Amino acid sequence: MKHIPLRMCIACRQMYPQCELIRIVRDNETDEVKLDMNKKLFGRGAYICKNAECIQKAEKKRGIERHFKCAVPKELYKAAEELI
Ligand SMILES: [Zn+2]
Repeated sequence: MKHIPLRMCIACRQMYPQCELIRIVRDNETDEVKLDMNKKLFGRGAYICKNAECIQKAEKKRGIERHFKCAVPKELYKAAEELI
């Protein structure tokens, strides 16, 4: 059986296969938080479900901010919603 890596959504705290989640990374050098579209960026990662509910919940509760302990631009949440 193939091993599927599971990651936790920062909004609903459920575990899902990594490929079903949106990856967000914080760039180590610039401290910039951005969406990792191609899953190729290095840095600390956070994961969130591809649904509006979780993205809105994360925005409301500042889940990504708390995860990375730094500011997150509003556009990031918008961009994440566009990936759904
Ligand atoms: Zn979720």
